[in-house]
Amino acid sequence: MEQTRLAPPRPRVRPAWFVATVSEVRPETPTAVRLVLDVPGWPGSEAGSHLDLRLTAPDGYQATRSYSIASSEPGGTIVLAVDELPDGEVSPFLVRELRAGDQIEVHGPLGSFFLWRPGQSQRPVQLIAGGSGVVPLYAMAASHAAASDPVPFRLLYSVRTPEDIYFRHELLELSDGSFAMDLVYTRRAPAGWQEPVGRLTESTVAARTLPPEDRPRIFVCGSTGFVEAVAPWLVKLGHAPQDILTERFGGL
Ligand SMILES: Cc1cc2nc3c(=O)[nH]c(=O)nc-3n(C[C@H](O)[C@H](O)[C@H](O)COP(=O)(O)OP(=O)(O)OC[C@H]3O[C@@H](n4cnc5c(N)ncnc54)[C@H](O)[C@@H]3O)c2cc1C
Repeated sequence: MEQTRLAPPRPRVRPAWFVATVSEVRPETPTAVRLVLDVPGWPGSEAGSHLDLRLTAPDGYQATRSYSIASSEPGGTIVLAVDELPDGEVSPFLVRELRAGDQIEVHGPLGSFFLWRPGQSQRPVQLIAGGSGVVPLYAMAASHAAASDPVPFRLLYSVRTPEDIYFRHELLELSDGSFAMDLVYTRRAPAGWQEPVGRLTESTVAARTLPPEDRPRIFVCGSTGFVEAVAPWLVKLGHAPQDILTERFGGL
């Protein structure tokens, strides 16, 4: 039977709308930017949360999209990472047009099940990400490190090329005794890479994730197609469906 140390109860935060000022926009990958937002009054968020971001055009037209929150510290700074979908409505604007000093609106924090909280459980955690799907999982890994939580954390991260790794520097810095990252390159690997290059497969997931005997809690995040491929493999490998939490970013 699992021994669980319950985390101290956290007061439920009511999501609300906030005006956010962009304090920094910088390249994250060849197709994505990191946005740092200054949001007075923001109540903070638990690792894994997301928000709704709303843009309003001069003629009053509005568009709203969801983005995971990469930051998990208390206080009024929010970090997001946005990948540009070339035919998209909102992401090209955020990646190409948004500048420091611009104001946008955000609604949150949102999400109540795809969350990881320090001290919540002694069970190990397996994170599985595709592309920008690493954003909420990075927040979990950073929160785990900040709390010096001893449960083992492992990340299996599928990216196109070495340049497409989000939070590369931070993730490498987090990699230590209790956090390990496994990369899968789908298009090009660094020189000397020993593993095969190509899409994630069931056998790679079996070989490079915690086994069902370890009873990991598993968080999977990425495009809808990525999540819908990976989650059934995990069940087939013997993980209990209730141990697999998923977040779909959309698309195929
Ligand atoms: C809970 C949640 C968290 C999210 N977090 C992030 C995040 O941290 N970073 C991030 O970059 N995106 C994230 N997304 C996706 C984001 O909300 C938008 O869907 C994305 O930015 C595309 O918006 P758009 O207006 O540019 O494209 P749209 O104009 O809405 O769509 C254009 C086309 O792209 C397809 N499409 C939409 N989303 C995706 C996708 N993710 N992959 C492939 N094709 C897609 C649509 O089906 C459509 O055909 C998240 C989505 C959800 C639901």
